[in-house]
Amino acid sequence: MSDTQPDVRLRDTLGAVPAYKAGKPAPPREDLVTYKISSNENPYPPLPSVLKTVQDAAGRMNRYPDMSVRELTEALAARWGVTPDEIATGTGSVGVLGSLVQITCNPGDEMVYAWRSFEAYPIVAALAGAKPVQVPLDSQARHNLNAMADAITDRTRLVIVCTPNNPTGPSVTEDELRGFLAKVPSDVLVVIDEAYLEFVEPDHQIDALAIYRDHPNVCVLRTFSKAYGLAGLRVGYCIAHEPVAEALRKAAVPFGVSDVAQQAALASLEAYDELQERVDALMTERARVAQALAEQGWKIPDSQANFVWLPLGDDAMAFAAAADQAGLVVRPFDGDGVRCSIGETEANDRLIEVCEEFLNR
Ligand code: PMP
Repeated sequence: MSDTQPDVRLRDTLGAVPAYKAGKPAPPREDLVTYKISSNENPYPPLPSVLKTVQDAAGRMNRYPDMSVRELTEALAARWGVTPDEIATGTGSVGVLGSLVQITCNPGDEMVYAWRSFEAYPIVAALAGAKPVQVPLDSQARHNLNAMADAITDRTRLVIVCTPNNPTGPSVTEDELRGFLAKVPSDVLVVIDEAYLEFVEPDHQIDALAIYRDHPNVCVLRTFSKAYGLAGLRVGYCIAHEPVAEALRKAAVPFGVSDVAQQAALASLEAYDELQERVDALMTERARVAQALAEQGWKIPDSQANFVWLPLGDDAMAFAAAADQAGLVVRPFDGDGVRCSIGETEANDRLIEVCEEFLNR
């Protein structure tokens, strides 16, 4: 490391930026197979058809990608019944999220979201110099949309509703969301973050696109990282009314979605029926894990996503250590709880065992 301390002045707001605690790969062990269930990834390997497309695209890596992301944008527009002008892509949905703050918040403006929720929200807020306004979840670990409506002031520029909520799992209902939107001023942008959309059971699904069509101040954020299994390629998108989508395209990192990512996303859209079978299998596994934990006596919130939340409070770090011993890398939030992704069947079996042992320790 260099021992030269630069005099360079960095932005004051950087001090307020929390660190993203990304999941690390599960360390290999000689005594057992280890599993990483800390990042809500899709445990299935890429589909052969997607892998082939990626290999072909990799042969063009000396060239910049299509900056307009035209083919993928058109395919997404056709898939969701909107125009290409209503789609903005980015380097993962977290990349689009960063742009959403940049296009809405002046320094000091407020961004309202539930807490605990996705850990990138306070990061993108602080990076833009926006003020994060965190509204506690209710006792069921669900969004408290009434309290969120009350938290909106004339400095609020952006509101995020994460449904299903990462890391706790519950989703909001369409009635709740529509009731909430009726209270949000029309000049405040509301993002419905549906990163886990595909894992929602039919009786919990909301029609976010119908809500979007009814509200010019609503946009919908989605990703290829979870159900589509492309977390490593970084591609997400926002469905937004034209002026918002146009602003997002302006704010995007130039060439931020690689050609490999664009082609893989296109191939994944085409292969969605196959991917859906995997999503169905993960939802069956989630039900199995939730049922087993309930039988053990755990009180966990209803998860509509590809993970379960263990509300362990001060025992969160101890649980993570116990899971680690058993070869499972989980995601603890100190003093609050532990999020465990639904992974390979063997990883889920082991999680059930660790949960039982931890309760009976
Ligand atoms: N939103 C939510 C709620 C998430 O949980 C995540 C990923 N953990 C993202 C957005 C970002 O995903 P990506 O950048 O991989 O699209």
